[in-house]
Amino acid sequence: MSNHHSILIVEDERGISDFIATVLTANDYSVLKARDGQTALSLIPSHCPDLVLLDLGLPDMDGLAILRSVREWSTVPILVLSARDHEREKVEALDAGADDYITKPFGISELLARIRTALRHARSAAGSSLAPSGVFTCGELSIDHGRRRVKISGREVHVTQIEFKILALLSQYAGRVLSYDTIIKHVWGPHAQGNNQILRVNMANIRRKIEANPAEPVYILTDVGVGYRMVDNESM
Ligand code: CA
Repeated sequence: MSNHHSILIVEDERGISDFIATVLTANDYSVLKARDGQTALSLIPSHCPDLVLLDLGLPDMDGLAILRSVREWSTVPILVLSARDHEREKVEALDAGADDYITKPFGISELLARIRTALRHARSAAGSSLAPSGVFTCGELSIDHGRRRVKISGREVHVTQIEFKILALLSQYAGRVLSYDTIIKHVWGPHAQGNNQILRVNMANIRRKIEANPAEPVYILTDVGVGYRMVDNESM
């Protein structure tokens, strides 16, 4: 399958950069590389890559500064490469306009899935992963945005309005992580206090209703310290 998408890898560690480049080339992406922030900032406008993989720890500048600078004029999908246990950094990157992040070390299939998801969201007009029918399906779960109905294995699940709003939002961005703050602002309004507790309670109720084992969810995953991610059909 030829896809002709070009991806810019912004990463100063040669080993990681070469590994990603090899994987992407083998999967028919064309690859550009930058080892520092200045090179990245000149390559993005001159080559207009379809997606940017951005390491946040660069030798010459903070990756977040690159992110903010690019976001002033471009909506190119940006996936941040972040170290484990850097939850604050991940949240900051999402707030600064990153589309998603991948935690190092990551596997090939995870990397490719995140890239496909980001490219797909970029292609659809509103960044939505919804089918034109307005019905999201994943495994046994279906969420009908128009009729505001949720079903598991064809059986209707009764959810509250708030629960539906959360499910609708996560399914619209399936495959992508949404930060707790983003979800809270969307569901409870822009002036809502960032109160994770009420979101957590609602999520526990949702999982009780849609998951076979709420302790090991398969539809909505927790990115600890960052937010929630609804699995998209492709990764089931
Ligand atoms: Ca680095």
